Amino acid sequence: MTIIDGKDLSQKIKSEIAIEVEKIKSAGGKTPHLAAVLVGENPASKVYVRNKVRSCEQVGFKSSLVQKDIDITEEELLETVHFLNNDPDIDGFIVQLPLPKHINEELVTLAIDPKKDVDGFHPVNFGRMALGLPCYLPATPFGIVTMLDRYNIETSGKHAVVIGRSNIVGTPMSILLSRKAKIGNCTVTITHSRTKDLPSVVRQADIIIAAIGIPNFVKADMVKEGAVVIDVGINRVDDDTAKRGYRLVGDVDYQGVSEKCSFITPVPGGVGPMTVTSLMLNTLKASRKEIYGE
Ligand code: NAD
Repeated sequence: MTIIDGKDLSQKIKSEIAIEVEKIKSAGGKTPHLAAVLVGENPASKVYVRNKVRSCEQVGFKSSLVQKDIDITEEELLETVHFLNNDPDIDGFIVQLPLPKHINEELVTLAIDPKKDVDGFHPVNFGRMALGLPCYLPATPFGIVTMLDRYNIETSGKHAVVIGRSNIVGTPMSILLSRKAKIGNCTVTITHSRTKDLPSVVRQADIIIAAIGIPNFVKADMVKEGAVVIDVGINRVDDDTAKRGYRLVGDVDYQGVSEKCSFITPVPGGVGPMTVTSLMLNTLKASRKEIYGE
């Protein structure tokens, strides 16, 4: 069994990005610039945004943190988005989700200029992804595809079972794996909370993508011998022995499943770090105008 070390791979890719950034700078080009909008004090969101800012520093990007109070109105937030859309120095930006309940997330996502939508959540980028056109891929699926690629995992002709159908993980993952591409050409089954006899479906999988949000949901008896297991879940479970009073676990019962599978991503240190690194890759693409041109 091979552990897919997302932490190590993301460091490697960040070093590669840093070299590219140096080349841009030494040729007199503009430093790539990512902005992140954070609304309120959600602790998980703060950690995610902090990691994104730190990653920008590591690769040599400029970063701007735009912090807004929890009581910001929808109109004010939309104004912020328009400001960032029109700021020529900013190549790409993200609005960290979830937003407070009084703000319509869909409206905010739609307001982001697709050219700067480095999270890949805008319907234009999502649609282009579905059609196989150049686009910003959503960061988590992009990170998973990169891991499968860099670990030389054969996907063609394999049966991939995706558990979860969210717009940011499960659904885009199912599209990417079914497309005609180096990492693709899978026969894909997408499953969700209404799937009947889920264990028997998952047992048929050569590749399992678990994006459910339930700790240790995928047990060893649901996994075929030799399957590739990608654990997207990040769940906090109480742990009195841990300094913070909790620890992070995935959607996969790592202990049991790792004895049966051929490849597995750990939590933490698997998909999570690759998600942030994919955002850096998208920002580099944005600064080079690779997807949409000038
Ligand atoms: P979500 O809550 O939007 O979607 C969960 C999906 O799981 C739904 O489609 C639902 O139908 C399905 N589901 C729920 N209960 C089920 C059941 N009993 N059987 C089968 N399917 C079931 O979640 P999400 O945003 O896709 O995130 C999933 C997990 O991945 C969470 O733990 C989240 O924290 C984590 N996540 C991690 C990263 C990362 O970078 N590693 C990024 C995004 C999300």
